[in-house]
Amino acid sequence: MSAPYPWQQGLWSSLLRLHAAGRLPHALLLAAAEGSGRHDLALALAARLLCQSPAGELACGRCRSCQWLAAGSHPDFLRVSPEVDGDKVSKVIKVDQAREVVQFASQSAQMQGWRVVVLSPAHALNTASANALLKTLEEPGRDTLFLLLTDQPMSLLPTIRSRCQLLPLGVPDTQLARQWLRSQPGLPETADDAVADTLLALTRGAPLAARDLLQAEWYQQRGALLADLLAVADDRAAPLTLSTQWGKRDAMAQITIWQSLLDDAVQLALVPDADCRHRDLAAELKQLAAAVSAEALLDTLAQAVEARRLLDTTVQPQAILDALWLHWGRKTRTRGSHAG
Ligand SMILES: [Zn+2]
Repeated sequence: MSAPYPWQQGLWSSLLRLHAAGRLPHALLLAAAEGSGRHDLALALAARLLCQSPAGELACGRCRSCQWLAAGSHPDFLRVSPEVDGDKVSKVIKVDQAREVVQFASQSAQMQGWRVVVLSPAHALNTASANALLKTLEEPGRDTLFLLLTDQPMSLLPTIRSRCQLLPLGVPDTQLARQWLRSQPGLPETADDAVADTLLALTRGAPLAARDLLQAEWYQQRGALLADLLAVADDRAAPLTLSTQWGKRDAMAQITIWQSLLDDAVQLALVPDADCRHRDLAAELKQLAAAVSAEALLDTLAQAVEARRLLDTTVQPQAILDALWLHWGRKTRTRGSHAG
């Protein structure tokens, strides 16, 4: 992406005016939700600063600098994130990585222009790595920009926060977010607002996260799982039969659905006209909330939280799912004598 998203336009124009006036702060703390496009905004700004022949507000996308940046090989651009080892992502930005940043900032620009460091998420800096960065953040040398991204600005060390200019970037208003979502491939143009609103409600209004959620297994299987929960509650299906069927699919995705649906159902059981997040399934959720007591729903929610914890242990996923379905059966099927 080379252009900022519609909801970033105001901030973008301000940043470029500061840049044109030579008053761009050397360290910006971009506080925005994950999935709101904060990475793309940081990249667009990096591209614009590094570009050799910018086209107005945007990087040209054609010069050597733009090509290097796109290829991930720009010598004056550094991106720092927690290391990935196989499918394990570290939780912290390590002190060695911070030292790399210090080293990068101490050299002069290879292209005689700007140098840009994007550090994300900034709350992954631990005390040691934050301390290693302090001096560089304070005096980074000329034409150097630090872009720190986070959705938890208050969990950064005060010493880091105080060296950065804070730029809070909220999520767009619903109308704008809906409009953007509906222009994205994958979302049927005929989809009514309930689909867009559900996606946005489940991602706290972050549009890119909403777009990606559309492809997520758990999102796609919500309706089917909810129908099966209702079937057990209505005594139309046996818990273990369903557990075996669902056992063929990803267990983590399923438990995510259980938790997310039960969250809504609890709300509706307590306050019948509460706003639920799964707007497109509101009718079925209301049916569930009417059929099952709030206490049973809360109890099952706790069981689902426990199931998620067990998935990280050596317990077999099928056994975890069986326990969850049997629990649901016990809590909801009060008429019969069968336990599942
Ligand atoms: Zn360019």
